[in-house]
Formats: sequence, C-alpha cells, structure tokens
Amino acid sequence: KSPKLKDPSLFRKSAFINNEWINAKSGETYSVIDPATENEIGKVPEMNVEDTKEAIKMAKNAFKDWANLTAKNRHDYLLKLQSQILENQNDLATIITLENGKPYSEALGEIKYSASFVEWFAQEARRVYGDVILSSLKNHKIVVEKQPVGIVGVITPWNFPSAMVLRKISAALAAGCTVVIKPAPETPYSALAIAELAVRSGFPKGVINVITTEKNIKEVGLELCTNSDVKKISFTGSTAVGKLLMEQSSSTVKNISLELGGNAPFIVFDDADIDSAIEGVIACKFRGSGQTCICANRIYVQSSIYAEFASRLADKVSGFQVGNGFDTKTTHGPLINQKAVKKVTRHVEDAVAKGAEILVGGTNRTGNFFYPTVLTNMSKEMVITSEETFGPVAALYNFETEDEVINLANDSPHGLAGYFYSRDIGRCWRVADALEVGMVGVNTAMISNCEGPFGGIKESGIGREGSKYGINDFINLKYISMGGL
Ligand code: ADP
Repeated sequence: KSPKLKDPSLFRKSAFINNEWINAKSGETYSVIDPATENEIGKVPEMNVEDTKEAIKMAKNAFKDWANLTAKNRHDYLLKLQSQILENQNDLATIITLENGKPYSEALGEIKYSASFVEWFAQEARRVYGDVILSSLKNHKIVVEKQPVGIVGVITPWNFPSAMVLRKISAALAAGCTVVIKPAPETPYSALAIAELAVRSGFPKGVINVITTEKNIKEVGLELCTNSDVKKISFTGSTAVGKLLMEQSSSTVKNISLELGGNAPFIVFDDADIDSAIEGVIACKFRGSGQTCICANRIYVQSSIYAEFASRLADKVSGFQVGNGFDTKTTHGPLINQKAVKKVTRHVEDAVAKGAEILVGGTNRTGNFFYPTVLTNMSKEMVITSEETFGPVAALYNFETEDEVINLANDSPHGLAGYFYSRDIGRCWRVADALEVGMVGVNTAMISNCEGPFGGIKESGIGREGSKYGINDFINLKYISMGGL
C-alpha cells in the first residue's frame, strides 16, 4: 500500500496549460502504473496535436512579458519555486517513488538535487552578461547582447522524473524562455506537481505548460519539433529518439540540446584504492537500479586485481535488498517496466551464452524486479559491450595495459561519462585527457551537481546542463554593430 501525501493537492491528474488544469480535448486518458506493484496509480489526459498546439500558443502569448521582466524578477520567481520544492520535499519524493519505483531515500536525494538547479539558475539569471568589443572600423563599437531563444519544447525521461524537468526548465526560465513540457508517459505526476508549485510561486500564465501523452507521443513530438513558434527542443532520453528529434527539428532549423545514452566505461587500475573503487562502482552502476544514463556499463579491471575486485564486489552486491521503494529496508527498487526487464534479461543471457560467468544475481525476481547482478569473464562480442543495459548488471572486463584500456573505453559511438580509479597522478591526467567523453569521474562516481556542466559528446548529445555554461543553451547572441559614434 502506498503512503499518502501530506498535501494531496500536489497529486495533480490533469494537464497544465496557461495556469489551468485541463483535460485532453478528446476527453481521453491513460493509466499510470506503479512499477513496484504494477497497480494503477491514476489516470492523466491523453493529449494530442491539437492540445499541443494550444500549449505552444499559450507559451507564445506569455513569452514577451516573461522575457521582458528584469532578471531579478525571474530570479525571485525561481527562488520561490525552490523554497516550495524544499518545503514539499517529502511529498514530491513520495510521488517519485510511486511512479518511478526508486527507493524513497534516493527520491528525496533527487528532490534536493532538483532544487539545487532551481536555486543555481535563479542566481545565473542575474549573470547573463554581454560584451562590448573594439571594432576595426572607425567610430564603431561591437555590442553583444544575450536574448532568450523563445519557446522551448522540453521532453524528459522517467528515470529522474523531477530532476530532468527542473534542470532544463530552471535554465530556460532564467534565460527568459517559456516552456512546454512533455514528461515521460510513465512519470507525469512529478512534472504536474512542479506545475502546481509554480502556481503557488506566482508564475504568470503560460510560462510553464505540461502536456501528458502516452499513445500520441510521436505526433506530439513531431508537432513540438516542426511548429515554427517553438524555437528550441531540449531533450533527455535515448539516442534513437534524440536522432529522430534532431532530424524532425531540421525543418525549422531549431536550436537543440540533447542528453542521450551513455555506455560509460569504468576503469579500475591496479594502483587504485580498491575499497573506494568498489564504492564508486556501486554508486555509479546500481543507482536507480542501473537506470541512469551515466551508469557504468563496461567495467574494466586490470588483470592483477581482477579476481579480488570481482569477488569483493559480488560480496557487497549480494547484500542488496530488492523491493518496494517505500520499504525502508529496500536498497534497490524495480525496473520501470517489463520492456526494461526483458532488455536486461537479454543482455545477461547473451553474455552467459558467450562465456560470461554470473557471480551473483542474473535473474528476474518477480514483476519488474531484477536481482542486482555481477558478471565476470566479459568479452567484446557480448551485447553489453556495445548497448547500454540500463539495468543492475555490473559487467567486468579484464585488461592489461593503460593504452589497451583507453582504446577499449573509446571504442564506442557514445561519449557521455567515463570513470577511472588510480592513485598515479600522471596517469590521472593522461587518462582523463584521453577518454572521449563529456564528463570524467577520477576516483569518484559523483559527477552530477548543479555547479558542473553535465553533457556528452559523440552520439551522447549536444549542449550542457547546469554550471555557468548551462544557461547559454537557452540564449541567442545578438551582435549589434554601433556606427557613427
Ligand atoms: P526510454 O525508452 O528510456 O523511455 P525514450 O527516449 O523513448 O527513452 O524516452 C524519453 C522521452 O522521449 C520520453 O518523454 C518519451 O515519451 C519521449 N519520446 C519517445 N519517442 C518520442 C518521439 N517520437 N517524439 C517525441 N518524444 C518522444
């Protein structure tokens, strides 16, 4: 049985357009499922292209006034929102655990992480500086101004139902953009709760809009990408969908930011602090039951420490408690749905068929629960090497030399995060420089925070979220040549 909310009005079951709670024009709804119990949590509107057009229109109506506020005004709205989020953190975390399944303590961590972005970008709103540049023309000056890109289509995944929405919209809103959010169909309630808190924080009509859909995702996505009033798409999700959105956005030459799949390498050299490396693998591989885009997917361990590392890791993993995220004993929740369970099962079976050994786990428990797994004797031909598992499977590969492992790590079309453990300072610089990724964890698995520029290279994405760079993704430069001075 799911715990009740202290404030049930945070559990909104309608979509949100122009500060109104509305149903789909068609009257259709779809069911949202708790991945732990597989029971229905509730229904939300099944919106279509017509509803999407309406949301875009409202975001457009709101844009000028919002963009013309002072940066201090936008800062004040965002800080109000941040304090509302923190005040309601327990309820918001409950909503995350309900719809995503992650343990409540992790959900609470996600809410604090989300709030940190709202605070960060509230402050960044006031630091959008332009430039004055000397011109080579006489009596001229070059002025560079920064302006919001306009209406932003925000498409987010289910693995961080709150953080992915807030990380994007706080930067967009700070810059002066208005937003139409399309959350993942699996986790609409976190996005709707954010909309409710935005109302309480006094956000003007149309600045934030949320449309929910499951069946009509393709059409709604196409509308967001091709509607000429939408000036930017900010997306986090799979590489395949990212590529499709990029293609669709070309018709209007939209600005795009993409945070896509990872397949992160995690390298443990024989000079590493093994305890700390094991702790790092556990944090990085098993958080959210392995369903994050920066989760380690390929764990390379140097041969002289391979056996010891594998058995110590397996020992720890066998102590994990898989269960409902509301149970305080639970360390790892369910996967999001059966499709995810099937993918993880396929990856494990493929590896075993090609010679991998299961040290712990390896099977589906019941429903959407998959036992945290450690595999050894991994080799290049196995599917896990090239496909992101997005599940609780630590796959251990053996390597001999630094050059060899750098080549293996970089042998991927993806380039989001990479991690390695070593106590040799020279090696730390060399390997950090050589890894073809957007983010490197050196002797740490902690790479997500509002101060750092989150993002990938290669087929893992375009753009950065968080940090002083993040707001630029929502800004157009305007070059003004001042003559006759
Ligand atoms: P996953 O398979 O992990 O759910 P997706 O990339 O499919 O990853 O989902 C991420 C987000 O992209 C979700 O909000 C999903 O609804 C959305 N999405 C999926 N397909 C499309 C599409 N064709 N157009 C727009 N959004 C889409």
